[in-house]
Amino acid sequence: MSTSRLLAALAVAALGAAGCRGGTAAPSADEARAFLREANDTILQLSHEASQAGWVQNTYITVDTEAIAARANAAFMTAVTRFAKDASRFDNVDLPADERRQLTLLKNALTMAAPADPTEAEELAQLVASMEGIYGRGKYCEDGESGDACLDIEEITEILAKDRDPARLRDVWEGWHTIAPPMKQSYARFVELSNKGARELGFADTGAMWRSKYDMPPEAFSAELDRLWGQLRPLYLSLHAYVRAKLRARYGDQVPAEGPIPAHLLGNIWAQDWSNLFDFVGPAGGARTVSLTDVLRARSVSPTDMTRYGERFFTSLGFEPLPATFWERSLFVKPRDREVVCHASAWNIDNVDDLRFKMCIDQTAEDFTTIHHELGHNFYARAYAGRPPIFRDSANDGFHEAIGDTIALSVTPEYLVKVGLIDRAPDASGDIGLLLRTALERLAFLPFGLVVDAWRWQVFSGQVTPDGYNRAWWELRERYQGVRPASPRGEELFDPGAKYHIPANTPYARYFLSAVLQFQFHRALSQTAGCTTLLHRCSIHGSADAGTRLRATLEMGASQPWPDALEALTGQRQLDASAMVDYYAPLKAWLDEQNTGAKLGW
Ligand SMILES: [Zn+2]
Repeated sequence: MSTSRLLAALAVAALGAAGCRGGTAAPSADEARAFLREANDTILQLSHEASQAGWVQNTYITVDTEAIAARANAAFMTAVTRFAKDASRFDNVDLPADERRQLTLLKNALTMAAPADPTEAEELAQLVASMEGIYGRGKYCEDGESGDACLDIEEITEILAKDRDPARLRDVWEGWHTIAPPMKQSYARFVELSNKGARELGFADTGAMWRSKYDMPPEAFSAELDRLWGQLRPLYLSLHAYVRAKLRARYGDQVPAEGPIPAHLLGNIWAQDWSNLFDFVGPAGGARTVSLTDVLRARSVSPTDMTRYGERFFTSLGFEPLPATFWERSLFVKPRDREVVCHASAWNIDNVDDLRFKMCIDQTAEDFTTIHHELGHNFYARAYAGRPPIFRDSANDGFHEAIGDTIALSVTPEYLVKVGLIDRAPDASGDIGLLLRTALERLAFLPFGLVVDAWRWQVFSGQVTPDGYNRAWWELRERYQGVRPASPRGEELFDPGAKYHIPANTPYARYFLSAVLQFQFHRALSQTAGCTTLLHRCSIHGSADAGTRLRATLEMGASQPWPDALEALTGQRQLDASAMVDYYAPLKAWLDEQNTGAKLGW
């Protein structure tokens, strides 16, 4: 997660600032420049204040810090909404490409556009706050229970990850979905009002507004995602068929031999991450690989030392070390004396060099990877800090999430030997286990990464109406993921609302893009680093050439259309999921052997 606040990541909820819609006389180029100057200055200043307040609130939760952060955030978002609306005044002014791009980014900055009518704007803000509140407080209370006995999201996540009793899994799965029906009416009204705001800005609907952020027409972006999914689907089908057979061996007829998999048996509420199944779907003999978690614990590698490993990866590529203030001001361990938001995040408080990260680090392999992910945000943010504030963002929202994960792909057993964390890398016989473990997480995620926004695009466009919300949701989940619900789901339910990003109105396609991009980056940088072995064994650690390429891309920020940034890094102007297919090729061959005679698909 990144809290880069400047443009794309910021507009979670926009307050209703009824922007000036322009006078009669056409504005001049000088007026456009003056407007951009004001926008850049104001955004930089208010974002700084909102980040300071947000940092304190995240690392010291009290009613007061929450109120202060909410105020700073509201001031910031009101300003951005005003600039986004006013930017269209200059649509017909002749301007250099650089200034034109800043105006376009401003116009596309919002995730939600409030209607000009202040009453409606207020209603919209309240709807979103109330849906987020319902989700945040959401609990499943089993028969007659109340209060602390009810299960919150963490407890439910834990049960779905570890419990193997199908009746219990189904009960808890259904239980979590009971939080959502109270949001359904609000969601339908939210769709109406946010669409109205989007149309006032000239977009066909809110979904089209989201898809306009990708330097191509909205419909071309949807087609791109379909094309990428076409590249990945055969790989997914192999994994799906293999896991289905393993689940059937365990749970019997509850899992069909040839149909969709019941969603509650996949180890995760949304069936978006199957890695919790590894202990019984993994190859015989386990992963036959090192346990980094054991190594970190045995050697007492502290949270800051773990972070130093991450920093040294970046410096090995030629990046400057993190500033001293990063080490003084970051939060690395969960404090004992106060409440903090433990969810990992990376910050650049002043959008220049006040980099920080916030994480409650455990000595685990998972957190070791997350550290690299978060540092990717930090190094990216510093790389583009020389640009005008409006350009201080990633090339598109998938890029920001992908950079740190690209580095994490280079954390191979050979790399761990190189930095002295393990003595000897396991031989190639452990590779299938290693690949399967990450495929259960990254590959299994892909179709869900498409479903969440595919559903919303249909809803925002009016193709799906409230009387068909749930049906459309499950049709998409079956079509893309090949899963089916634990029990029949009627329209009195609202299953999409049981996923955070729906009530919080956070776009989701970026996570799919990030998954595709990180493998494309990894393949290109590995080639630049001269790696000639199998892709999953390549590490770019220590490669100055790969570092130069990476840095050049990060320094561009959002100043150029993302295909230019992609080309600078990979030499390709198109997204290409074949890198992920290459990476998992040994696993695909192994899965296909296991699947001999079995039907693929559903
Ligand atoms: Zn992130």
